[in-house]
Amino acid sequence: MTLLELDAVRASYGKVQVLQDVSLSVPDGGAVGILGANGAGKTTTLRAISGTVNVRGRITFDGIDITRSGPEKVASLGIAHVPEGRGTLPNLSVRENLRVGAYLRKDRRGIAQDIDFVLELFPHLERRIGQNASTLSGGEQQMLAIARAFMAKPRLLVLDEPSLGLAPSTSQDVYDSIQRLRDESGIAMLVVEQNANLAFRIVESATVLETGHSVLSGTVEELKGRDEIRKAYLGG
Ligand code: ATP
Repeated sequence: MTLLELDAVRASYGKVQVLQDVSLSVPDGGAVGILGANGAGKTTTLRAISGTVNVRGRITFDGIDITRSGPEKVASLGIAHVPEGRGTLPNLSVRENLRVGAYLRKDRRGIAQDIDFVLELFPHLERRIGQNASTLSGGEQQMLAIARAFMAKPRLLVLDEPSLGLAPSTSQDVYDSIQRLRDESGIAMLVVEQNANLAFRIVESATVLETGHSVLSGTVEELKGRDEIRKAYLGG
């Protein structure tokens, strides 16, 4: 079953149209990547889904039209967005950040269980549970942002360049954590990533964006077999 579907999506900032024609779909429980160069429109595609930019075309989530839904509505339907730059709350502890992620939930036992669950998956965070988020390393902050988004109990986790600004070995650690989260929870994911080698560790398929158009989609195997993908995104 399809969980999220974008059909011929267009989006503009003021008069500047940035997305021209983006179509993609995420199956329920599946993981899909969005690849593309700087400025191709990857972040704007995620903003279109989250309801923070004006959209034409059609976006559906679990069969519901969310094309014109605002961010609160989209979040309440079960889409959690981890933005570029992470957005953790610097003056709150790791535990408090995780609780903030669950603020729309009422099930106190479920929240406590999910905190235990994410701490098991993210041992880096467990070691820093009482520390302010501002004292964490870049990789730990990224893990906290992902864990916090998961605490909302979403059906779809949307991740914008989890490796941005991180050293290669730290990026690997972050992707290890994402992979564990996916394996253990079965949650659907949509992941923007410039580094296809990283994205291909966790997604089953991907869409390539060029200047606001989705130009190519396929399974990881199909994409790895294409020369232009190997050259542009896999280092030759
Ligand atoms: P990057 O990897 O650099 O973030 P991207 O593929 O995510 O690239 P977007 O951030 O979606 O690309 O940007 C697509 C285009 O929209 C770019 O040309 C960018 O300059 C422009 N753009 C992004 N944000 C705004 C904004 N708030 N106002 C006007 N133009 C914007």
